[in-house]
Order: sequence, then C-alpha cells, then structure tokens
Amino acid sequence: MTIALITGGNKGIGYETARLLGERGMTVLVGSRSEERGREAVQRLRAVRVEAYAVVLDVTDEASIAAAAKRIDKEFGRLDVLINNAGIAQGSADGRASSDTLDVMRRVYETNVFGVVAVTNAMLPLLRRSPSARIVNVSSEVGSISTQGNPDGPLWPMRSVPYPSSKAALNMLTMQYAKELSEAGIKVNAANPGYCATDLNGFRGYRTPEQGARVSVHLATMPDDGPTGVLWGDRSMSHGTHEDGVIDW
Ligand code: NAP
Repeated sequence: MTIALITGGNKGIGYETARLLGERGMTVLVGSRSEERGREAVQRLRAVRVEAYAVVLDVTDEASIAAAAKRIDKEFGRLDVLINNAGIAQGSADGRASSDTLDVMRRVYETNVFGVVAVTNAMLPLLRRSPSARIVNVSSEVGSISTQGNPDGPLWPMRSVPYPSSKAALNMLTMQYAKELSEAGIKVNAANPGYCATDLNGFRGYRTPEQGARVSVHLATMPDDGPTGVLWGDRSMSHGTHEDGVIDW
C-alpha cells in the first residue's frame, strides 16, 4: 500500500492528482482546509473507486498541520508521497514591483512558501519510514528566473511580484530539501503543471487540471534512479515545446 498526501487536494490540480494517484492504486489522503470540501472531494473519488480519506489541513495553521501528521501516524504509520500542492495567487492590479503591499506578500508567502516548509517538516518523520519517499512541490514556470528574464520569451511582459517570487523561493526550497534528503533516498522535485484552467486563474489556462496533475504524478512515481532537485513539467513558456521536461530554474 502506497500512501499519498495531497495538500489542497479538494479541487483543481490537487484533486486531479489525487484521482490519478488513486487510479494507480495509491491510498490518497485529501488535504483540505475545509472539512466539508474535503469530504465532498473524497465522495467523488470513492465514486470512481479510489481509496480516499479526507484530512483537514490548512497549510498556514501549525495546529492543523500537527493534527494531520498525528492522525496519519496513528492510522497509516508512514507516508510515501507528499504533494505540496496548495497555493494561492494574489497581487496588485498593475503588477508593478513597487505596487504590492507587504500584507499581500505575506499572505502569498504564508501559503506558497512557509506552508510548504511547515508541512514538509511535520511530515518528514513519516516520510523517512517509507522505503522510497517522494516529495513534489507544485511550483510554476513563472518562478523560473531564467524564463522570466528572457527578453525574447513569452513571460518577459509579465509583471507580478508576490506569486512568481513565492514560486522562485519554493524552487530554492526544493533544491535545499533535495540535497538534505538525498542520502535518505527521498526525492524532492518541483512540478510545473503549466497554465491550467482552474479557480486560481479564473479558468483561463490552456491545459486541463488533469494535464497539470500528470506532472505531479510523474514526479511522485519517479523510479529510484530518477532525478532529485529539478524543476520538471510544461516547457511551453521556457522552451516553446509542449513536451514536458526539465526546466531551467
Ligand atoms: P485552485 O483550483 O485554486 O486550488 C488551490 C487549492 O489550494 C485548493 O484546494 C485550495 O483550497 C487550496 N488552498 C489554498 N490555500 C490553502 C491553505 N491555506 N491550506 C490548505 N489548502 C489551501 O488552484 P490550482 O490551479 O489547482 O493550484 C494548485 C497548485 O498549482 C498551486 O500551488 C498553484 O500555484 C499551482 N499552479 C497552478 C497553475 C495554473 O495554471 N492553474 C500553474 C502553475 C502552478 P480551497 O478550496 O479551500 O480554497
């Protein structure tokens, strides 16, 4: 039995990740900050014969994270896959670096950066009990400094600070955790799902949430000789190709 926890698993890319991992036979723990939304997601997953359980988990609330870790320990005794998927996007209307308030910056970082650190550290003792654990941090190409900084690339006109910089920070977290955990055989990679039609962007993305979720599934099921410490996924912004692959940081 392989046990996977997906934060923000109640909708969007996280829900599809839970479904796809469940269809591969994993037991999926659907992290949701709302008990009701988590329960509804689990009902939908069970309707397609996925073994799913709802876990109340707000990544900005340390008590909620501790309670989730305690429950997983008690009921499952270990964790094989952690998908740090929960994320939010906010920012000023004009996107200018000088326009964003510290309040918005803090809010975005609480979820997209500090939340990942808090959840990862709380789940690490459980992940260390797995024979080959995988951590997937759901990042974005907009956090790739080389892609953002290419004057000839599609992200050059993008102006936004809170969300892209939070994903750039997440990329560095990925590398640092990958280095720390390589001896333990735990692979830590960052996923770029690509621009997917979800609530996060008013459903404007050109990929489906399922297509985005396949990126996380690829990294979560990486064999033992696969890479650790890479940003992997949709390369259309960075390389102009729709084939998934490694993306420069
Ligand atoms: P989404 O549909 O808005 O889903 C976001 C999920 O995160 C929801 O389940 C949401 O829960 C949850 N969440 C937000 N704050 C949370 C918190 N404090 N604690 C726990 N859960 C929380 O967006 P999505 O597009 O699927 O996003 C999933 C991930 O993909 C994010 O990390 C996002 O940055 C990343 N991503 C998305 C795209 C894209 O084009 N969509 C591209 C690149 C990367 P509620 O239902 O309670 O709000």
